[in-house]
Amino acid sequence: MKIGALKESFEGEARVAITPASTAHLQKLGHEVFVESGAGEAAGFSDEDYRKAGATVAETAGALIEAVDVVAKVRQPSESEIGQMREGQTLISFFYPAQNAELLEKAKQQGITAIAMDMVPRISRAQKMDALSSMANIAGYRSVIEAANNFGRFFTGQVTAAGKVPPAKILVVGAGVAGLAAIGTATSLGAQVYAFDVRPEVAEQIESMGAEFVYLDFEEQTKDGAETGGYAAPSSPEFREAQLKKFRELAPDMDVVITTALIPGRDAPVLWTKDMVEAMKKGSVIVDLAAEKGGNCELTVADKRIVTDNGVVVIGYTDFASRMGAQSSELYGNNVRHFMADLTPKKDGVIDHNMDDDVIRGATVAHDHDITYPPPKPKVA
Ligand code: NAD
Repeated sequence: MKIGALKESFEGEARVAITPASTAHLQKLGHEVFVESGAGEAAGFSDEDYRKAGATVAETAGALIEAVDVVAKVRQPSESEIGQMREGQTLISFFYPAQNAELLEKAKQQGITAIAMDMVPRISRAQKMDALSSMANIAGYRSVIEAANNFGRFFTGQVTAAGKVPPAKILVVGAGVAGLAAIGTATSLGAQVYAFDVRPEVAEQIESMGAEFVYLDFEEQTKDGAETGGYAAPSSPEFREAQLKKFRELAPDMDVVITTALIPGRDAPVLWTKDMVEAMKKGSVIVDLAAEKGGNCELTVADKRIVTDNGVVVIGYTDFASRMGAQSSELYGNNVRHFMADLTPKKDGVIDHNMDDDVIRGATVAHDHDITYPPPKPKVA
């Protein structure tokens, strides 16, 4: 089959769904690879790099869509992109079907098979295709780099002839994939790291990374992973109060706060309130990785860096993965080519869209003029 990557049309998006390296892997599966001219430019891959890897460069988006059987993208397609696709074609991209009902309907009506990379089941076998995790890992790392860049001091403590420098104190709220990456990055830079999550089972992981788990003076913890498929459930009002009380105590002492707390299918919980920001020292930095879902910090403005009246920097960027376009394209490209490997079990360039396969079924949101979202629960853990 022919698979091709479109140049991302979302303004400022630097990622690309197929890299020169993943081109080679896709070819080994028996596929012919295409790329829209300039698609890899912002991630550091030239048309020539793709040609050298054996891909064919299409001059326009229209020409690419015309040429291929499978259209690969990072962001969900625009109306125009999906409008140019034809019956029987496959789309593979982030899709967020719960938030994009109209797009899903369009895919159904046009007879497009839509594979949502954000719907890949989070089971062990599918980890290599888990694009949510690969992008969250990058976002977590980058959040610390952005914080360091905005913080006017060292992260590591030092004793020098010119004076003693204490380590920066960093609080990470939410220790999922992004939070754990942030903890790892911050500890490796020498900061003193504290972390909190509503899921008590992550305490051990946090501590093994050299950070301190923030315990609440609260008897009842929220439901742990068992009932919620490993994700957080909304906290009770009492738990939330205990959490905010603890954060209020910590606020004056923290140099950097990185928030990553999310609850699937809901707006981000507000956990770092205005009065906590006001209690922080001048020059402190907050990086809110939940900005796209409304933000964990009350003062966050999505896609903006603001400085409060008391001199605290609040960063609400929503493009952390794209800010590391080369790295994120490499990892996303790997996620996509692994998915393609599952779709091409005989490595003969023929796609077998096996809806009995948990991973393929889970990620397929439209197929054969039908909406196939939400999927049934996967059978295998
Ligand atoms: P996420 O992005 O949905 O949420 C981020 C974190 O915020 C979670 O750890 C959550 O517990 C936390 N959170 C929610 N409300 C909070 C609050 N009020 N205060 C503090 N923290 C709060 O999560 P994620 O990173 O996508 O992953 C969540 C879970 O899924 C983890 O258990 C992770 O290990 C698991 N996971 C499994 C796989 C796999 O098996 N393949 C892959 C990725 C993630």
